Amino acid sequence: MTAPVLQVRELVTEFPIRAGVFRREVGRVQAVSDVSFDLMPVETLGVVGESGCGKTTLGRSLLRLVEPTSGSVRVGDIEVTTADRHAMKHVRSQLQMVFQDPYASLNPRIPVRDIIAEPMRIHGVDKVEAADRVADLLTRVGLLPEHGNRYPHEFSGGQRQRIGIARSLALRPRIIILDEPVSALDVSIQAQVLNLLDEIQDEFELSYVFIAHDLSVVRHTSDRVAVMYLGKVVEIGARDSIYDTPAHPYTHSLLSAVPVADPRRERSRQRIILEGDVPSPASPPPGCRFHTRCPIAQDRCRSEVPELHTVAGGQQVACHFPVEPGQTLVELTKR
Ligand code: SF4
Repeated sequence: MTAPVLQVRELVTEFPIRAGVFRREVGRVQAVSDVSFDLMPVETLGVVGESGCGKTTLGRSLLRLVEPTSGSVRVGDIEVTTADRHAMKHVRSQLQMVFQDPYASLNPRIPVRDIIAEPMRIHGVDKVEAADRVADLLTRVGLLPEHGNRYPHEFSGGQRQRIGIARSLALRPRIIILDEPVSALDVSIQAQVLNLLDEIQDEFELSYVFIAHDLSVVRHTSDRVAVMYLGKVVEIGARDSIYDTPAHPYTHSLLSAVPVADPRRERSRQRIILEGDVPSPASPPPGCRFHTRCPIAQDRCRSEVPELHTVAGGQQVACHFPVEPGQTLVELTKR
């Protein structure tokens, strides 16, 4: 059986809340709460949820750009959460990240060739080889080798994201965490960057964790999808199970907001508007974290935390009363 390239188990990332003159810790926010998943070779796992659901913190925790509080992240044989500097250097050659804002993630003061070569310099790649690889990578992402002499501000948003992608490929990683990689780009440019990501995935045999709030983009790119709410994965499974037979009420509400291309279906689309705001992650509701907004919540939901379990569609769902295939949340709400 093929081994996963990335294994995440019961990952928790908390941040301290500080107050007062002495910035004393007065509480903790759990941004990522008990998240587990495997990522297989050349697979894309989409991670979706509203802003603030913990998906970006999850991506950063995998690379220890923020330190996880507990749990396990394994890349091959290496336990990332406890890896020393030497082991982390190896992890960073295997696991890279592409950020949402290509401009903020590229140092404006250094030419593009040095930006792309920097990871190679850190890993001791010979200068001549690094220069060859930079030229190859620029070409591979649809730019020209001579673009290496220019600075980030001389490029458009789409080109800058291509530079970010070229940099992420410099050490020939196996896994790339893509944090909203196209959400800062014009729609016309998004498709080009998504196509590029698709092409290099096959060519470089990459696995992706694709973090996004746009469910249409995730449907296009992902093999499996994880839906997050208030730091927790509430539904995870094959893309078609999640999109065709969603079982968690929150997934239903997210999908009901996605426009449909067919005008007849679009006219009959019933949007589910969730009431109330997302609760503060500093004091999440007891029981099911979604119960304060769930239109079908019952007493049990207010006291008992639902665990992920497999349902009829094949996916795993953390809900006491999952929506069954063929049912709609709107129907259930009216009962
Ligand atoms: Fe809604 Fe209850 Fe399911 Fe939570 S456990 S999503 S409150 S039905």
